[in-house]
Amino acid sequence: MSERKLNGFWKPAAAVMLTLALLFGTGMSVSAESLLELQERQAALEEQKEDNDAKLEKLKEDTAQKKGYRDTLYQQIETVQSQLDLYRQQIDRLNKQIAEAEDAIAEKQAGIDKNVELLRERVKAIYMSGQSPAIEIVLSSKNIMDYADRLEMLKSISASDQELINSLKEQMSSVEDELVLINSDKSELNKSKKALERKSAELNALYEEAQQLVAEAENEEATVLAGSEILGSQIAENEEAIAQLEEQLRQDGIGSGSLGNIGSGGLSGTGSFLWPMPGYTYLTCYFGEGGHRGIDIAGGDIYGKAIVAADGGTVQYAGWNDSYGYCVFLDHGNGYQTRYAHMSELGTVTGASVAQNEVIGYVGSTGNSTGPHLHFEVIYQDSLTDPMGYY
Ligand SMILES: [Zn+2]
Repeated sequence: MSERKLNGFWKPAAAVMLTLALLFGTGMSVSAESLLELQERQAALEEQKEDNDAKLEKLKEDTAQKKGYRDTLYQQIETVQSQLDLYRQQIDRLNKQIAEAEDAIAEKQAGIDKNVELLRERVKAIYMSGQSPAIEIVLSSKNIMDYADRLEMLKSISASDQELINSLKEQMSSVEDELVLINSDKSELNKSKKALERKSAELNALYEEAQQLVAEAENEEATVLAGSEILGSQIAENEEAIAQLEEQLRQDGIGSGSLGNIGSGGLSGTGSFLWPMPGYTYLTCYFGEGGHRGIDIAGGDIYGKAIVAADGGTVQYAGWNDSYGYCVFLDHGNGYQTRYAHMSELGTVTGASVAQNEVIGYVGSTGNSTGPHLHFEVIYQDSLTDPMGYY
């Protein structure tokens, strides 16, 4: 039995089994079933990748939307910044005007001081000559601006001196009024500038937030994209494995027509049956003998010999059954079904399509059997018929 294990279908498949074990790192046995598994895995991967790609598209839209919002904020910040620049320029101009007015005030003050000093000198000369006793009031005055008022009391002092000082006082007062106006403008501007700066700060905070959201969205997008790429390469690897396995199975003679057509409905029978046990015609039990469901074909050295499909069709079942042992059930798609039992070894798999004369197994004595033989049944429209009626 163990020597048979390496014959037929199994022997050449060992090479691809090793390949696949290396590829997938599992103890997967090589058969058409693993091909089906690979095809199922392929379908699952493709579905997963489709989902992932759809998610990626959605994320891209989401990222674009977030970027749009962030860019709008950026434009608003730029507008506010240029308005702020304008305010700064205006304030600079006002500061310059303030400095000029202050200079002018200082200049007038210096003029007044100079004239008062000249007046003081003259008054002192008058005092020295004893012309005016009230002059002490002027001389003791500490506040220079008091002079003009005090001079009112000194009628004897030159009227032209008084006029000059009054004129300077007026000029100074007008510059001071101007300065008040400039300062008021400046304070208004500063208020507007402060409001704008607050708005700018708010916009900057929103921008930071938006930028953070964009970064997160881009990050998620990159993760999903990487996922799609991994799935893509897994699909490519799987495809490669499927192609290799299919090629290997073709070379093993399981038949390209058979495995290539899995699940596609299978082959239809020719309608005429070929003898399933080439080289052996000796019957040990006929149809109907003691309720026998088919015929038993035997021979001295029959053990391990190839059993072939009596007609083309689909493998309904290939596997173990307590009575039949290892057995194969074929459906020929034309109302006929055939069954082959007690095999030592299966040569096909459930779901495969087989051609007429294709090897489907090897003679054995498994299940309810007393010695090596092929138990063969022909069923027509769900009723057992005598297989010998077809030969
Ligand atoms: Zn039998």
